[in-house]
Amino acid sequence: MERMQQIVGRARAAFNSGRSRPLEFRIQQLKALERMVQEKEKEILAAIKADLNKCGHNAYSHEIMGVLGELALTMEKLPSWAAPQPVKKNLVTMRDEAYINYEPLGVVLVIGAWNYPFVLVMQPLIGAIAAGNAVVVKPSEVSANTARLVAELLPQYLDKELYPVVTGGVPETTELLTQRFDHILYTGNTAVGKIVMAAAAKHLTPVTLELGGKSPCYIDRDCDLAVACRRITWGKYMNCGQTCIAPDYILCHPSIQGKVVENIKATLKEFYGDDVKSSPDYERIINQRHFKRVKSLLEGQKIAFGGETDEASCFIAPTILTDVSPESKVMEEEIFGPVLPILTVKSVEEAIEFINRREKPLALYVFSNNKQLIKRVISETSSGGVTGNDVIMHFFLPTLPFGGVGHSGMGAYHGRHSFETFSHRRSCLIKDLKMESTNKMRYPPSSQKKVDWAKFFFLKRFNKARVGLFVVALLGVVAAVMIKVVN
Ligand code: NAD
Repeated sequence: MERMQQIVGRARAAFNSGRSRPLEFRIQQLKALERMVQEKEKEILAAIKADLNKCGHNAYSHEIMGVLGELALTMEKLPSWAAPQPVKKNLVTMRDEAYINYEPLGVVLVIGAWNYPFVLVMQPLIGAIAAGNAVVVKPSEVSANTARLVAELLPQYLDKELYPVVTGGVPETTELLTQRFDHILYTGNTAVGKIVMAAAAKHLTPVTLELGGKSPCYIDRDCDLAVACRRITWGKYMNCGQTCIAPDYILCHPSIQGKVVENIKATLKEFYGDDVKSSPDYERIINQRHFKRVKSLLEGQKIAFGGETDEASCFIAPTILTDVSPESKVMEEEIFGPVLPILTVKSVEEAIEFINRREKPLALYVFSNNKQLIKRVISETSSGGVTGNDVIMHFFLPTLPFGGVGHSGMGAYHGRHSFETFSHRRSCLIKDLKMESTNKMRYPPSSQKKVDWAKFFFLKRFNKARVGLFVVALLGVVAAVMIKVVN
């Protein structure tokens, strides 16, 4: 307990010193982070390989590219994001300064998950540094190699007091969560999300919860199945299915189920060859516990393809299940593995109803030649994010906020949204001490006349196109003079 208190206490003292606030300092730290990723690329790729058996090419594109992209974007845009943002004024505040000022929250805690062990701590860290905070980083103990490396590297490149790394599992995280933070961003499963939120509530600490869920994928009959299935196969089986926004299950009409299976099978051959086990592009399940969990989901199911497993190496082949019952175990919880159930529905209405009967998912995918149908599914359902006619890709566009809704999480980040998540948007209104007479309508004693003037000032809406700004300004002056006369 004392150790955590010390770490967080040191981070708070460093934050209170004010050194994390100047933009130049934040950009300098982000540059150091960029240097770290560039100089230690080999070590980072090796740690990810040791954790997830991921080849260098995939680790680079899944983890390093996103971090470098986020760093470049943030360093370029930070001056404009952090600049005071003037807001529209009304008649009463016409002469004043009114703006939103982005200020750091203080000491932020970032808790990462194991499935993309590097990017999931680095992306929030980038946003939190950019916003001027001190940040305590807690990588997942499940991906032990990456966690160790992050703990070793960050202090070599960043300010040690402002950005400490805490490693460890449940006991350490539990202790850490007793400390007071000014914001917590947690990535992981929903059950632990509730624990994090309960701990945060004790200090009234706001949280961003990046959780999971069962992300549905609806394939319309009017669709280019070969293209749709290639994209789905890519998103489902990358990282051995251990992706929070992987399509969890497919909904489609019974008449196309067979063709969907055939197309996915053909794509799997195209991607991984005849022997998936020896493909450098196919990862492994993170550990025995998750291996057993995913394997147990196959029991009693109709396996249309795949199904081979090897416990010693935590290998589970890309698997497709057909005619899956909505009541089966595989449909109860997020699969988080390379198992793709197909459930049949008779119409898009039935698909929408199916989706809406369950918890709001983190992602939703719709494939159709008909854009109207895609828009309809979007408007009649809810999810953290949506990609139409592809999977995963909304994650990679940093102008889109990334996050869940309902049981798939709260809050969002990426790009400018990260900066805003880790900032307080402070309302600033600065007046001068002149024209006191215009304030009389709000001071006692009250009168009907004062209420009428207040109504004019606060409730009147002007159509700018018709009246013009000049006339509005003139009205303001006339009103000010009138008030003086009235009083
Ligand atoms: P995990 O086991 O790595 O746990 C996540 C973090 O929570 C770890 O740092 C761990 O130390 C901590 N933790 C675990 N138990 C705890 C406890 N009792 N008290 C306090 N802290 C505790 O990861 P996981 O939960 O297996 O991650 C998989 C889940 O995360 C999936 O549901 C997936 O969809 C979701 N996920 C979401 C996103 C997203 O961006 N929304 C990204 C990746 C994963």
